[in-house]
Amino acid sequence: MPLSLYNTLGRRIETFIPVHEGKVGFYGCGPTVYNYAHIGNLRAYVTHDTLVRVLRRFGYKVTHVMNVTDVGHLSGDDDTGDDKMLKSAEERGKTVLEVADFYTEAFFNDTDRLRIQRPDIVCKATEHIDCMIDLIKRIEAGGFTYNAGGNLYFNVANFPYYGELSGHLFDEQKTVSRTEIDGNKRNQSDFVLWFTKSKFENQALTWDSPWGRGYPGWHIECSAMSMKYLGEQFDIHAGGIDHIQIHHTNEIAQSEAATGKHPWVKYWVHNEFLVLDKEKMSKSAGSFITLQNLIDKGFDPLDYRYFLLGGHYRNQMKFSVESLKSAQNARKSLLSTLRSLAVKAGISEYTERLDRKITSKAKDHLDAFDAALEEDLNTPRALSSLWALVKDGGVEPKDALAAAFDMDKAIGLDLAAETFKKFAAVNAVSEAEIDALIAERAAAKAEKNFLRADEIRGALNKRGVILEDSPKGTTWRYG
Ligand code: AMP
Ligand code: ZN
Repeated sequence: MPLSLYNTLGRRIETFIPVHEGKVGFYGCGPTVYNYAHIGNLRAYVTHDTLVRVLRRFGYKVTHVMNVTDVGHLSGDDDTGDDKMLKSAEERGKTVLEVADFYTEAFFNDTDRLRIQRPDIVCKATEHIDCMIDLIKRIEAGGFTYNAGGNLYFNVANFPYYGELSGHLFDEQKTVSRTEIDGNKRNQSDFVLWFTKSKFENQALTWDSPWGRGYPGWHIECSAMSMKYLGEQFDIHAGGIDHIQIHHTNEIAQSEAATGKHPWVKYWVHNEFLVLDKEKMSKSAGSFITLQNLIDKGFDPLDYRYFLLGGHYRNQMKFSVESLKSAQNARKSLLSTLRSLAVKAGISEYTERLDRKITSKAKDHLDAFDAALEEDLNTPRALSSLWALVKDGGVEPKDALAAAFDMDKAIGLDLAAETFKKFAAVNAVSEAEIDALIAERAAAKAEKNFLRADEIRGALNKRGVILEDSPKGTTWRYG
């Protein structure tokens, strides 16, 4: 079956057919680096990463481009509010570039911990101003701009496809801040391409341009940088659903106005939000959860990745510590099952032998896994196939491991490394030794020597063996 994706442009599931056979140009809107990423933002990047991994799994040569916004993003996407970078720099007593560097590094630290593969190209807005100016010149030459109050605006009335992405559901009342109407705009959907008369007296970063010294609007950076690296028409553009109505709508208008090519991007993929008790998580509101907050609570970043894979990217997900705990337990249990399979197969480290051709029943599970991903990236179903595989007693342990590690290339749970991480310690304990220690512990308990009993449990635990007591006696598993 071919890969199919839900395309926001047209609002339907479509068979994926790239612009150039075998290759995929993929652009995902990157972070605005004025603060840490919150776990909602990280949902967007896990989605991009999973999609890129899946495309590669199905044989496409993907070029993944991500921007880093270090200039031009105001708190309202429609040119209203504060300059996010400037405000953060002032609050922290740093320069804008210091803030940008610090949070860019923090961002990639988070994405690395979530096993999000680094994009092939990461491009900073401040390093691409010339390319933005060139693009604005083309838009201007096409008659899509006007100057007002010192700024250069995009005139949406001249662009016939405006609003196509959002299904023309554009409701001005909803998106325009009521307290801040820009009197220079002919239409409130018009947006700034280049600010010269900044509303911020102390604007830190400015550049010379044909329209005067100033700085670019936020939307132009994604149009300019994506086309620089992926060409004037490319395959997939991704981001969160909040970007449909303004940011991506404006990106399309600018790009198509400049090139005259329609459609600019073939597939628009948008992830739904991660919410906290029905509320949206927002960086600007100041109440947000970071990956580090989860680690401080005792979670592994991969618990969070597992949690996210358990939801379909187009469904809203509610975050709670309880649901993350369930994901943590499920991941632990998955690793424990994989370790038991490794013991049965007599394998104590990841070897190329496991990459051999997967046969028989394991292949059926692999096919089900792939079919789930082919259907608009159905990761919850793909996880079920992984579970069905490792629980299937009819599959040879070696085949089950090989198939599980193969599946993992698409979902990024680092299963091979995690499975064998504790093996050095586990290997030092033979099953006979574990059985002898369990017997010694039972005897200690019978003598009410609970100190020794706990000591034995703790020592085994450190070596990766978990003891579980039940009325029927003590059993053990790899933890
Ligand atoms: P920003 O740094 O604000 O530009 O956001 C980075 C990415 O995170 C964008 O693709 C947003 O659409 C996405 N995003 C923001 N908040 C959430 C959320 N709560 N859940 C999922 N994605 C989000
Ligand atoms: Zn963007």
